[in-house]
Amino acid sequence: MSKVRAKKHLGQHFLKDPNIAQQTSDAFGQDHLFDFCLEIGPGMGILTEALSKRTDLDTHVIDIDAESIQFLSTNNILPDDKIIEGDFLQLDLAKLTNGKPLGIIGNFPYNISTQILFKIYENRELVKEMVGMFQKEVAERVVSPPGSKVYGITSVLLQAFYEVEYLFTIDEHEFDPPPKVKSAVIRLKRNNVQDLGVDPKLFKKIVKAAFNQRRKTLRNALKPYLNEVPDLAQEEIFNLRAEQLSVEDFVGICRKLSN
Ligand code: SAH
Repeated sequence: MSKVRAKKHLGQHFLKDPNIAQQTSDAFGQDHLFDFCLEIGPGMGILTEALSKRTDLDTHVIDIDAESIQFLSTNNILPDDKIIEGDFLQLDLAKLTNGKPLGIIGNFPYNISTQILFKIYENRELVKEMVGMFQKEVAERVVSPPGSKVYGITSVLLQAFYEVEYLFTIDEHEFDPPPKVKSAVIRLKRNNVQDLGVDPKLFKKIVKAAFNQRRKTLRNALKPYLNEVPDLAQEEIFNLRAEQLSVEDFVGICRKLSN
């Protein structure tokens, strides 16, 4: 069967080197936190082939591209009942796994990488691990510590619930067609935080509000939240800017705002 034609609007950049696919698979699921594995965007299945050899994983794939789905099915890369045609962003993960713990892997479509990260965050009770290939700058943001220019919303939200690791960088020429930027593989592993001790909705709102005006002091960026608590607003922490705050600092602010 002929190859899948790369479609730009679907973020298709096919990995060429099976060794990189193997390395990505090897980095995944070694702590056996889950059996149910979902690969997002298998394309022509270069990573799927490595995963399908893993007897410790029950691998499923989802791709939005009918041509890719046909390719995987015709080439028997996985049994048909493990191949889903659809949009990962619309998928009900709890329904898919029947509530079982889940590991997510993929060379992700870069046009929706942030949305994939937010979806993992929202499903953090289910998603025990993720090994994913992103644009390098997105990968760097997720793993960044406080104090860095790239530290942002996804850094704080994900680091609140996951141990984050930068694994390796991949050159643009390892893909067909090559993307404009380098890529990187990162790993997220669920930590043991069940509950931050503050309202998770408030936590997300505060983190977003703080970084949406990241050049301003927190006193200005969080003004709508501080208006009713002028005494609290005087505290020193509000002289800082979002990028200077750790996860614990954000949790602390939420706790004070709830009192
Ligand atoms: N894993 C393959 C292909 C990566 S390209 C490889 O490494 O070669 C990204 C893949 O994501 C494409 O196959 C594309 O069709 C798929 N994709 C794009 N948007 C998607 C979505 N919303 N849900 C599921 N898959 C999607």
